[in-house]
Amino acid sequence: PPDVETLGRSTWTLLHTIAATYPTTAPMEKQTEMKTFINIFSRVYPCWVCAEDFQRWIELPENRLLPGRQGGHLSGRASFGQWMCGAHNEVNRKLGKREFDCRRYEERWRTGWAD
Ligand code: FAD
Repeated sequence: PPDVETLGRSTWTLLHTIAATYPTTAPMEKQTEMKTFINIFSRVYPCWVCAEDFQRWIELPENRLLPGRQGGHLSGRASFGQWMCGAHNEVNRKLGKREFDCRRYEERWRTGWAD
């Protein structure tokens, strides 16, 4: 199996790319679908300590994904991207890595820059 770091880098690429291509304004169906995806992801991610901490983070009141909520994390691409950026920064902090400036999210994950 891949090591936790290789798995992590690839997974963040997938998660941020999914967030960066989420609809600008997401219809209810897409919001529900994304909540389901994240919930299942948090249970099948094959780094169990990582998954456990991520599950705890997504259950915090301020981080909860509530489909249909006005201006909620699932309402559209900008909101969901900031949520994903926050999720990643939580892990960065835990690992003592530098925090990413979420204002540069689109530039990094949508319009693209070389890493
Ligand atoms: P990564 O953290 O993998 O980041 C890759 C690239 O993403 C960076 O080069 C940067 O350009 C960009 N980036 C960085 N921060 C952000 C951000 N906030 N928003 C958007 N883009 C950003 N590892 C552990 O050891 N313990 C854990 O508990 C753990 N939990 C994890 C939980 C999840 C859900 C995931 C997906 C990964 C987890 N990892 C964990 C792996 C860890 O986050 C890193 O992926 C791994 O340590 C490799 O780090 P890296 O320095 O190569 O860059």
